[in-house]
Formats: sequence, C-alpha cells, structure tokens
Amino acid sequence: MSGIEEAKELLPQNAMIQESCYEASDLVFYTKNKEFFLNNEDTVKKMVSKFKKRVEIRPASNIRLDPGKAKKKVKKIVPDEAGLKDIVLKPSFGKIVLQAKKPGLVIGKSGSTLEKIKKKTRWMPEVERVPAIDSKIVDKAREIIHEDSEFRKDFLDHVGKNIRLEKSIGDEWIRATGLGGFRQVGRSSVLLQTEESNILLDCGIDASKTGKERYPHLDVPELDFKALDAVIVTHAHLDHCGAVPYLFEYGYDGPVYVTEPTRDLMILLQLDLIDVARREGEKAPYDSSDIKDEIKHTITLDYDEVADITQDMRLTFKNAGHILGSAAAHLHVGEGLHNIVYTGDIKYDKTELLRPADPKFNRVETLVMESTYGGDNGDMPKKKKANKKFKKHIRKTLKDGGKVIIPSFAVGRAQEIMLLIAQEAEKDYFDFPVYLDGMIWDATALHTAYPEYLSKKVQKKIFNQKDNPFLRENFHRVGSQDEREDVIRDGPAVILATSGMVTGGPIISYLENLAEDEDNTLMFVGYQASNTKGREIQSGRSKVTFPGNNKPTPMNLNIATIEGFSAHSSRNQLLNYVSNLPNKPKKILCQHGDNSSTFKLSSTLHKMLDIDTSAPQNLETLRLH
Ligand SMILES: [Zn+2]
Ligand SMILES: [Zn+2]
Repeated sequence: MSGIEEAKELLPQNAMIQESCYEASDLVFYTKNKEFFLNNEDTVKKMVSKFKKRVEIRPASNIRLDPGKAKKKVKKIVPDEAGLKDIVLKPSFGKIVLQAKKPGLVIGKSGSTLEKIKKKTRWMPEVERVPAIDSKIVDKAREIIHEDSEFRKDFLDHVGKNIRLEKSIGDEWIRATGLGGFRQVGRSSVLLQTEESNILLDCGIDASKTGKERYPHLDVPELDFKALDAVIVTHAHLDHCGAVPYLFEYGYDGPVYVTEPTRDLMILLQLDLIDVARREGEKAPYDSSDIKDEIKHTITLDYDEVADITQDMRLTFKNAGHILGSAAAHLHVGEGLHNIVYTGDIKYDKTELLRPADPKFNRVETLVMESTYGGDNGDMPKKKKANKKFKKHIRKTLKDGGKVIIPSFAVGRAQEIMLLIAQEAEKDYFDFPVYLDGMIWDATALHTAYPEYLSKKVQKKIFNQKDNPFLRENFHRVGSQDEREDVIRDGPAVILATSGMVTGGPIISYLENLAEDEDNTLMFVGYQASNTKGREIQSGRSKVTFPGNNKPTPMNLNIATIEGFSAHSSRNQLLNYVSNLPNKPKKILCQHGDNSSTFKLSSTLHKMLDIDTSAPQNLETLRLH
C-alpha cells in the first residue's frame, strides 16, 4: 500500500469516499457524506501534518445541489456589489467557479460568504477575479483550463502519481547543464538532473537569430522529452518561454509550472510571435494549437506556495520584480540535501508597477543568476531622476503644443510609463489625451486581472476600484488605422505605441507622420539594440527610411533618451540581492549576459564572497552536489 491509499486510511469510518485522486502535489477525496464534506477540519489537519501535502475534501455528485438551483442560490448569497459576472460549474472537480469583479466580496469576512455557499450548494466554491479591463486573453486562458475538465483531472492525477508520497533514497548527485542563455541573452534554458528527476528551467528563444541558434540545445543526448518530469517557466518574456509550445509539438506531455499571470502573458506573447512570423512571411515555430496544449498542461503556483514537483524536488516561486508574475525558482532537492535558486530575470529595486525581487529564501547552496548588467557598464541612473526627466519632457512638449511619442514594449515598460503619466495627469495643466496603440491595451488588461502581483500602491488603487490608474478617463485605446489617423491629425497628446525598438508595429506610422514637426518629442524609455531603427534615430540620423516606404522621413522632432527604467537589476542591485540571501551560497553560476558581463560578475562575486563562482558556456555541465 502506498501513496493516496495510505492517506485514505487516515479518514474516519463515516467519510464515505467515492473517489480519491491526486491533483498534482495535492490529495483530493470526494465524499458521499454531507456532514463530512462540511466538517472535516481536524481530519484534514492531521493528514497535512503527516504527509506535508495539501488535502481537500470535495463533494461527490450525490450530495451536490442540482446545477440550476446551485447557481440560483449563489446569486442570492453573493452581494450585488461583488459584480458577479459568470458562474462556471466543473462537475469533474465538484467545483463551482465564481467570476467576479470584486472577489473579496464573494469571499466575505474571513471566508464567511464562501462558507455559506459551500453549505447551501454543497459544491466547492472557487473565486476568480474579472479584470477591470475586458481581456480576451484572460477569458481564453480560463476557458482552456475550465473547458476540458476530464482531461485536466486525468492529467493532474497523472502528475501526482509521478511525484508519489514516499521519498526514495538514491545516489546523491545533482547536475546542471546550460542549454541556452549562458554567456548570452536569449534562449534561456537549464537542464537540472538528479538520480530521480529531469527538470527544465525555462525554455526560451533568441528572437534575433534564425535557424538552430534561435533555440536552446534541446537535442543533447541527456535530454529525453519523454523522460522529462517538469518544465518551470520563470516569466513570460520570449527569451524564457518562447520554445515551450515547441516541446509539446515534439512529444512532451508533462506539467509546466508558472504563476497565473505568467500563464496568461505567455499566451499573449507566444501568439504575437506567431503573428509577427506570419506577417513577415516566415514559418512560425509552432501554431496556436501547440500553445493551447501548453496551457492545458500548466500548473499555477502563487509566490511562496510550496509544491512537490518530483519525487526529490520541491519548488517555491519568489517574486522577481521583473515583469508581472515573474518569479525566481527555489528548488529544494532531497530531504535537506541541496537548495538551488534560479533567478530568471530580477529587478532588485522598487518600481511604480512592482515590488522588488524577494531574496528571502529558506536556504541556498547553488545560485544560478542573471548577469545582464553585471559588467562594468552595469550602473544605472537613479529611478527618481529618470522619473523627473521623463515628466519634464512631457510637460514641456504638451505645453508647447506638440505630441509626445513613446515607443515601448507592450508588457511591463508600457504599464510603468502609464503609471508615471497617470501621476502627471493629476496635475492641473494636464488636459490631454493619452493614446495606447499595439498590444499595450491587452497587456494592461492582464495587469488589472492580477493586482495582488503589483506594487502595494497600485494594488490599493485597483482594489478600491475608484482610482484605478490604468482606467483614467484620458487613456484611450487605438484599435484601427482610421483611429490612428485621427490621432495623428488631432492636437497635443501622448502616444504610447509598440514596438519598443521601432522594428515594426504602429510606432512606424506615427513617426512617418509626426517626425517632421519640430514641436513633437520622441522619447526613448528602453534599450535600443544595434541594427534597429530605434538605435538609428537615437544616434542622431537626420533622415530615416522606414520599412515599406522608399521616401526617407526627416527627423526634425526632439529626441530624448531616458535611462533608468530597466526591468533588470543594475550591477549594484545584483550584488545587493546576493548579499541579502539568507546565507552565503557555496556556488554561483552567472548567466543571462554577454561574455564580459558574466565574467565580470562572476569575478566580483568571487572576490566578495570567496566562493566558487563561474560563467559557464552553453552545453557545459556542472555537478552541484
Ligand atoms: Zn525578462
Ligand atoms: Zn531574459
């Protein structure tokens, strides 16, 4: 007897269990006894302390209220102010999902309203926040997760069986192989192996490359897609998740661990990748059915939630402060054998939008860290100074009757900039429209769906619903070429448009039409890579030829560059992050940076801590224990 059968033995005689199954690392029992469904706290507590797993008792079908009646009851119980939008029943899970604008009011004081729903309907209630801005992406992600309940149930049970309850004691070795993102930025992926487990940390693409160099080295002999236990994705940027759907196309069918916002942002960015490829006449690396497959296999974890993911590995995500939902992954291997932290991309500083990365792990022996700005040029201007300069340019240009044009990435930077504009828009002089063009609106909607993941300040504003900074009256979405032309013709305004490096997207139209006017200002708020139109303009070219237009456009407008908005840590912030870990690691691997940044950071950390640090290449394998 092992696993869930053993756990079942702890249930009382009257539990009347119809079915018991795993749900990833959780144990779930369906009871035919109403009383036991409603009162099982002591039993559950006992089981949790024995097995160190979450345990849930759900209603078997015979004790649930008829679906129609259950919905009616819910509508009666939930107060109108909660903004209940939809009720989804998931019979395979015995769950009733309540989608509402204000989840807090559905939950009630210390869960009292939920408790009432549970008692009156005998379904297991679950609450989902409806974003303040309608989002097709959020709807789509939830639909994919909810629609095929039978598949999900089997999948989660299957994942759980792979994890099992008893821990085996094998040969105690751990090794890591860099498949991509070592001494480079792009196609991040690390293969982590023990006697028991094969784990992939991130699986990104290098969008600036074509052919084989675009993908991590997924064809190494030690990586067998069929034997892969889990994929962990730290955040939704394509250099970390761009190749995940590709794994499914080639036979992987295991779990993808992410935070909830990362799951949704991944859909947005991966769909966009396919879209851009199609528009540029290139072959997309996968299609939307592979993305759907990936989403069906996601298991979401909150920050600080601990989950067994294989027989000898336990995963915890910590906030990485980089973009919405970004996480550093902490892996506890064996029982106290070794702790690994893989940072993904981190920002160890407060921004308007997010809280700083959280280095408060339990323990860390091996640290695999990003090094983007770990080199000599890794200092950044202070955030406060950047904010001030940014606002000054806005004020001056608008007062002089010009337009401010800001090329921006859709995810993260755009929302940070929106928050700064919202602050400026509270001032008396500001009576101007702010236009958002490209994917920015969808990305912003996603931010309003997950306020728990944002900075305390913004969170508070979104929770009280009255002064949600993303919903300011002067913020407008631009959705068509006609609307774009209106914006170009009309008076002073702020225009935020993709793409961030002027490589394509609506920003091109704005520049073609507005760059000639010297009253206007073009403001760069992000890094401009070499060989991009953004860099060409930034370096002072007086005329620029945009793709699909033979006539060069004179660059008469003011051009400003504001540094200090980076979503990555400066060199100092990286060093502070390491200093603030709970203990001194034994080993540090520097990656996600070019040769010089990874070497520099590695050597600085070696001098600072007197420990084993290195900057391995792709395909190097290191033994961690
Ligand atoms: Zn990133
Ligand atoms: Zn990255």
